[in-house]
Amino acid sequence: MKLSQSLSQTSKTVAHDADSVNAKLLTQAGFVKKEAAGVYSYLPFGRKVLAKIKQIVREEMNAVGGEEILMPALTPLENWKKTGRDKVDIAFHPTEKTVLGWSHEEIVTPLAKTRVKSYRDLPLCVYQIQTKFRNEPRAKSGLMRGREFLMKDMYSFHATKEDFEQYYERVKAAYFKVFERVGLKSFLVKAGGGEFTENISHEFQVLTEAGEDRLKICEKCGLGWNAEMEIAKCEKCGGELIEKKGAEVGNIFDLGTKYSDAFKLNFADEKGAQRKVLMGCYGIGVSRLVATIAETCHDEKGLIWPESVSPFQIHLIVLGDDKKVLTEAEKVYEELSTKTEVLFDNRDLPAGVKFADADLIGIPLRLVVSPKTLATDSVEIKKRSAETSELVSLKNLLAKTF
Ligand code: ATP
Ligand code: MG
Repeated sequence: MKLSQSLSQTSKTVAHDADSVNAKLLTQAGFVKKEAAGVYSYLPFGRKVLAKIKQIVREEMNAVGGEEILMPALTPLENWKKTGRDKVDIAFHPTEKTVLGWSHEEIVTPLAKTRVKSYRDLPLCVYQIQTKFRNEPRAKSGLMRGREFLMKDMYSFHATKEDFEQYYERVKAAYFKVFERVGLKSFLVKAGGGEFTENISHEFQVLTEAGEDRLKICEKCGLGWNAEMEIAKCEKCGGELIEKKGAEVGNIFDLGTKYSDAFKLNFADEKGAQRKVLMGCYGIGVSRLVATIAETCHDEKGLIWPESVSPFQIHLIVLGDDKKVLTEAEKVYEELSTKTEVLFDNRDLPAGVKFADADLIGIPLRLVVSPKTLATDSVEIKKRSAETSELVSLKNLLAKTF
């Protein structure tokens, strides 16, 4: 993409209502635009980051046998009346008979009922990546807590407790993989079940001062607890607990039979007896991940994207207005673009501005083509995370695989 033609543009000024590092950096670097409290547009750069995160989530959910679906955001109120969650105050009601989905147990359970008749139909697991709506009283911290946000929600259906428990452990492992792949270290934290269930749930937390949750983390084994829980030493290894702040990037729940009771989701066992289906649900805050990555991967100059989720792999800068240099840079852009994603800063601006913007946008690798580098048939190459640059010959650069 040529920066001169992109809708995404950097800005020198910080929005006066940017209340967090992620809001400030993502807005200034042209990834998102705030439309209202807790409501954002994703500009081209931000949309690309989201797409990469979604793809990683998808791959890991498919790997544990999840099948992707897409349920409506506009859901019938009557379904919510069956579980008593029609009274939940974070729900938006666009009409008298509809609710904007803030979670989807009330839709997915009747959906599973159309498919599950016997023990042979179990287990079953479906997921979606979809916009959720919650009238959060504390919509703040940029993409951390939106009123409209992107979530991956997965639901599993089981015949036995053993089968559910085994599956829950598989999803746990898949979640650690997702967070590692997007460049984050996550901690498993025990918590209550909230609006979803009376059972214990597990949260996946990333340690950051920008998070809203207070945790007690075991220094020895990394297991954690919600700070509100009464616990003095690690239950698993007896290690000391230290208090930290965290951002909840995912949450997994044992739903038991709460929703199968409400919707009479039963199955016939081997002997033909009717039994209740056991359910689990598993959420990932896809857009909160964008915020969490921005909060944990930056320096005073700007963002530093992990390669796996960066909107581009290469930020190519051309310096000066020499025709020959511009033509050469254009050639480099064309050739590299056949192999990887390149952002080409072809704007007619001073070097200092272009370098500052490259640091702000935070693409992992910066290349510079200038009269000076071309004098030795080379290109300057610098990692966003490194202090120093080096010269690489044009020939070697173009022969490289990215
Ligand atoms: P929180 O305690 O942060 O409000 P939650 O317990 O309501 O989260 P779930 O309903 O389980 O969360 O949602 C699944 C995931 O979606 C959460 O782990 C979180 O990462 C993300 N999430 C929840 N609410 C929001 C929000 N308002 N904005 C962005 N992401 C959210
Ligand atoms: Mg919440």
